[in-house]
Order: sequence, then C-alpha cells, then structure tokens
Amino acid sequence: MERVYNFSAGPAMLPEAVLEEAARELVNYKGTGMSVMEMSHRSSSYDQIHQDTQDLLRELMNIPDHYEILFLQGGASTQFAMVPLNLMTQHGKADYILTGNWAKKAYDEAVRYGDVAIAASSKDANFTYIPNMAEVTFRDEIDYVHICSNNTIYGTRFRPDNLPQTGDVPLVADMSSNILSEVYDVNDFGLIYAGAQKNMGPAGLTVVIIDKALIQEPQPSTPTMLTYKTHADKNSLYNTPPTYTIYMTKLVLEWLKDLGGIEAMAKINQEKADLLYDFIDQSDFYRSAVTAKDDRSLMNIPFLTPNGDLDAQFVKEAAINGLHTLKGHRNVGGLRASIYNAMPIEGVQALVNFMDTFEKNHR
Ligand SMILES: *Cc1c(COP(=O)(O)O)cnc(C)c1O
Repeated sequence: MERVYNFSAGPAMLPEAVLEEAARELVNYKGTGMSVMEMSHRSSSYDQIHQDTQDLLRELMNIPDHYEILFLQGGASTQFAMVPLNLMTQHGKADYILTGNWAKKAYDEAVRYGDVAIAASSKDANFTYIPNMAEVTFRDEIDYVHICSNNTIYGTRFRPDNLPQTGDVPLVADMSSNILSEVYDVNDFGLIYAGAQKNMGPAGLTVVIIDKALIQEPQPSTPTMLTYKTHADKNSLYNTPPTYTIYMTKLVLEWLKDLGGIEAMAKINQEKADLLYDFIDQSDFYRSAVTAKDDRSLMNIPFLTPNGDLDAQFVKEAAINGLHTLKGHRNVGGLRASIYNAMPIEGVQALVNFMDTFEKNHR
C-alpha cells in the first residue's frame, strides 16, 4: 500500500522527509557503526543529538535563557500531577480553566494536591468555545493558572491574543496538540508542556519548558522522578531519556526550521485550516462542531454529516480513498480531521475533494 493521508489525533503523521532520513540513518548513524537506538545516552554522539534538539527548540520557539527545556517521559498525563506537585507549593492553591477533556483531566489530578478552583469553563455549551479571557478573574494568592491551549477533542484553541491575564501569577499550558503550530510568546507562560506525538515526533517524549524561577522544592513525598529539579540539575540525563524519540524530534525540528520556522508553518496551517473550514461552512450537508469561529483549532477539526450512519459511511469510504483515521472522538461524535504540521496541504485538498464527492453521492 502507498502512504496514506493519516488524520489521526495522535500519534500522528510525521513529515515523509523525516522518516526517510531516519531510515537512511537507522542502522548506522553517521558512521558511528550503530543505531541511535543502540547508543549509550552518555556517549558523545548521543550528547550532540540531545543538545542539538534543545538548541533547535529554543531557537524555533524563541525560548529565553531563563527557561529550562526538559525532556521527560510519562506523557502529558504525568504532567497533570507533576505541575501541582512542583508548583503548588507557596500557597497550595491554583486556578484552572476548563475548555475540554484534557483540561478536565488536568484539573481532576490537581485537586488531589491542593486547593484548586475552576476560574472559567465552557462546559455549559459542550466545550464549543473558549471563554473570553478579558472577563476572567482569579483568586488571590494562587500558585499558578492552568489552561489547555488547544482542545484536541473539541477542536477549539486559545488564540495567542486571548490568553488569561494572570499578572505575576505563572500561566501553565498543556500545548500537546498545538505546540510549534503558531507563534505564542513563551514569556507569557511560566511553564509549557507537551507530549511529542502530535506535533513534534513519535510517542515517548514529553517536553517541558519551565521558567527557572519555578524550579523549586516540590511538595513533601514527591517522587524523585516527578521533581523538575531532578531533571533540570542533570540536563534531562538523570536517568535514560527516550533517546530515539529525541533524535526523531530533532529531525522534525530541522525540517521545521528548513521550512522557515513557526511563522512560516503558521501561515501554512492557517491555509490548511481555512481550506477545510471554508468548505464545511459553505456546505449545508456538513457542519462544524465548533460554533465560535474565532476559537477554532488549526490542528483538530471536528465536523458532522447529517447523521451517524452517514458519519460511519464517510469513515469507511474515506479510508478506501487513502484518507485515514477520520472518526470523531466519542465525546463529540461525527468526524475529526487532525491536520498537524506534518499534514501537507495536498492531504487537506484531497479530503475536501472527497467530502465534495461524498456530499453529492449521499445528499
Ligand atoms: C493527547 C493529549 C494529552 C495526553 O497525552 P499523553 O501523552 O497520552 O499523556 C494531553 N493533553 C492534550 C491536549 C492532548 O492532546
């Protein structure tokens, strides 16, 4: 079978050029006589990969020197606990904004470690919009505010101009599904975390970008491995890091840099998203699951046909046409196209063409 357009929410498509480069280097990496997978994480060859990946991320995201970049494991889900354990230490309080499933999971975990409140929520409308942050206020004496910047399941995102105004209070963001997709100013955040498997590389790596001022003594009994300081002190080499995933992430970051960086990527992502949203909006057969147009995600686009039977039929016929993994999340139903950085515009065009044909055949 030829390669297909894979609209999976994650793990997701990787740039084909990256896969090909990895294949070339798979067995014998740059004349070392071994695969990156077989290399000691203490070797100089691996150390170069580790350093280059950090440097590239710092350059692409314009990360100031007073932020540490950590390469951890356990997925974004482990950060749901690690954030409160390490940051909820001065006042034992934090405010969360609930805009979807992952935000709720982060909140549910944080509740176990302190006094946690919901500052704003869009649950009243099944998470189809992002509350206007200009109207949101926070409690006094909180350690941080938490958001999920892109809601993978519901298909909404915090525009960079609609971030919570937290003043001196650190803003923490789960950026798993839109890191590197458009320009956010890292200075607006105290901590950013993201699982790699949506927009950075294969599964297995969690990137944490943390203001060094927030690397402090965690709550008592916090496991060593769940302490940011452990990893920061050892440049994320306290124990064996996910070396091969870090190597793959380096290749993806090089690909992104060659393409012109995040600004250039954002332009392409906007074009891709416009192509799909414009088609959905002009159609009276399909409808978008997200009503607030300004809050629509550029990465995850949930939409519906007139009924569940047609949704199922759509998924089946699309796959036959080389368009894979379009079934919507069970919370929203319908269909979902995840069009992360690695999805070429040709893939989105192919999807729109298929949607047009499907509509004509089934209306
Ligand atoms: C996928 C996802 C997660 C879960 O990530 P894991 O790496 O599987 O723990 C958390 N938050 C968001 C926004 C996601 O998209």
